[in-house]
Amino acid sequence: MKVAIYNSGTQESKRLKRMIMQGLAKENIPYDEERPELVISIGGDGTLLSAFNHYEDQLDQIRFVGMHTGHLGFYTDWRTFEVFDLIESLKADTGQSVSYPLLDIDAKYSDGTHQKFIALNESTIKDTLKTMVCDVYVNSELFERFRGDGLCISTPTGSTAYNKSVGGAIMDPKIIGFQLSEMASLNNRVFRTLGSPIIFGADAVLTLRLDDDSTAVLSCDRTQIELGQVRHLTELTYSVAKQQIHFAKYQHTDFWRRVKASFIGGEA
Ligand code: NAP
Repeated sequence: MKVAIYNSGTQESKRLKRMIMQGLAKENIPYDEERPELVISIGGDGTLLSAFNHYEDQLDQIRFVGMHTGHLGFYTDWRTFEVFDLIESLKADTGQSVSYPLLDIDAKYSDGTHQKFIALNESTIKDTLKTMVCDVYVNSELFERFRGDGLCISTPTGSTAYNKSVGGAIMDPKIIGFQLSEMASLNNRVFRTLGSPIIFGADAVLTLRLDDDSTAVLSCDRTQIELGQVRHLTELTYSVAKQQIHFAKYQHTDFWRRVKASFIGGEA
């Protein structure tokens, strides 16, 4: 099994990388950053998001492992004092994994081009200059006309991130689907949206059609998508991605225990 390490830039994560590299060399476990089968992310959830982004073309071949040096660490099962236990687990690896759904995003632009993205946490569409206006279609049927700051479309594992901050529900990551949450929708006698988050099932397709003069900006996890001077977004299509993210399940913190520890208090 070929292993790669993806770390945040902190001194602590560099120190841990050196320790893990020594352990890998001692046990003759090959190191390969180009075509790894297992990626150890050292940092927080932000680092895992970057590691995911870095290897997103090889998701079918890769399992991820997260070592926690961040603040929350929803995607990270290992603590910094468990380096030797991690090496032992790598030696005893039987390919065990747990997989979670991802979000597929198809963005169309005013110049006729389109781009595809895949999100581990979420995609947001926001307008900071003026009210964002778009028609929301569910499975090709017009559902509502949205006016407000923006919309957040999240995966089940991303539901504890931005989605939670904008009043979305936390989803059990075993549910295959995605969630739509509003950001400050205009709701009055004239304009009306549902006003609550929606959780879509595995086959749902959500389409957002933006007005011709839209200045809305698209994000995918940590990245804001560059639009350039001449084009703007016209349509976004969201669905559950064909690919999933796989984690090596050597030791696994229960999701609801993690939710409790992160947002209410107590040990994860
Ligand atoms: P950041 O602003 O530096 O940190 C965002 C925080 O969100 C960190 O504490 C991070 O945990 C945590 N986080 C990331 N994914 C999570 C998840 N799935 N569940 C629970 N918490 C999670 O940004 P970043 O580190 O580059 O991460 C990008 C993410 O930040 C985006 O995907 C988005 O979800 C989130 N974000 C949230 C808001 C908001 O809540 N208003 C605004 C913008 C972006 P660690 O400390 O372990 O890294």
